[in-house]
Amino acid sequence: MLREFKVLKSHGRQYINDLRKQPVSEEFRGRPEISADITASEISLVSGLCPAGAIDANNGSIDMGKCLFCNECSFALRDKIWFTNDYRIAAGRRDELVIEPGNSGPLRLNEAYIRKEVRKMFNGALKLRQVSAGGDNSSEMELNASGNVNFDFGRYGIEFVASPRHADGIVITGPVSRNMAEPLNICYDAIPYPKIIILAGTDAISGGLFAGSPAIDRSFIDNHKIDLYIPGNPVHPLAFINGVMDLLGIK
Ligand code: SF4
Repeated sequence: MLREFKVLKSHGRQYINDLRKQPVSEEFRGRPEISADITASEISLVSGLCPAGAIDANNGSIDMGKCLFCNECSFALRDKIWFTNDYRIAAGRRDELVIEPGNSGPLRLNEAYIRKEVRKMFNGALKLRQVSAGGDNSSEMELNASGNVNFDFGRYGIEFVASPRHADGIVITGPVSRNMAEPLNICYDAIPYPKIIILAGTDAISGGLFAGSPAIDRSFIDNHKIDLYIPGNPVHPLAFINGVMDLLGIK
């Protein structure tokens, strides 16, 4: 027994104490910032090289719902576009994911868009069913990591469950391939009200690189109210956990 205690002590503390303030590596690309003095020719340059069409050719804003966080725009214009370490990038409305030039403020979930029943019923215990709808397993792996010993989102009563009948909501990853359109509907129908919908990652939010492809079917996304958009390519566990904490009103 003493030996086991020694082994446990040698492991030290593994969990992240404060998930709101955990520093991440310099390489991490979170909320982008665009200099207010970016010129029309510079906007034209970066919007032309962006592989995802995430940069507005008229005003230079970056749509995090489309962005692949590839950093190509920043490589081209280091002093005009950069990605911060800020992982609190979730939003309750799609248009809030668009970052305008000169906007360096933090992104915070607008309380006005959160359904009252969500906080009333799920603060303290939220069970989620994850559906990979044509996903590439990257965001899925990060969501899986959200429950590991480091991130441990189970400390807030948040966890993934195997059956939609045991779930309070659905987390969708992937651009929603045509083959997954019907299973996604079936899964959603099996969840009791007031069910929530979370889109995790660029592919789920906009279709990503697959946007406009005949191989995807976005009708589910287009026809339902989305409670939470969490950008990332893939989504970082801290972005996911902080987004869900904001949705539930966890300080
Ligand atoms: S980081 Fe985003 S906005 Fe910049 S080039 Fe890549 S996809 Fe486009």
